[in-house]
Amino acid sequence: MIVILKDIPVLQCGRCLEYILEDSVMRRVEEILSIVSQDSELQVVRFAA
Ligand SMILES: [Zn+2]
Repeated sequence: MIVILKDIPVLQCGRCLEYILEDSVMRRVEEILSIVSQDSELQVVRFAA
C-alpha cells in the first residue's frame, strides 16, 4: 500500500540535506497510517497538525 501525505511539515538537515521529521510530526504520521484504510492500494491524506 502507498500512502501519500500532502502538506506535511518537513525539516531539512543543514549538514546532509536529508529531509527529517520532527518527533511530533512523526507521531501524527503514525496515527494517520494506523487509521487509513488498509484495503486500498493508494491513499492520499492531507496532513493536518
Ligand atoms: Zn543530517
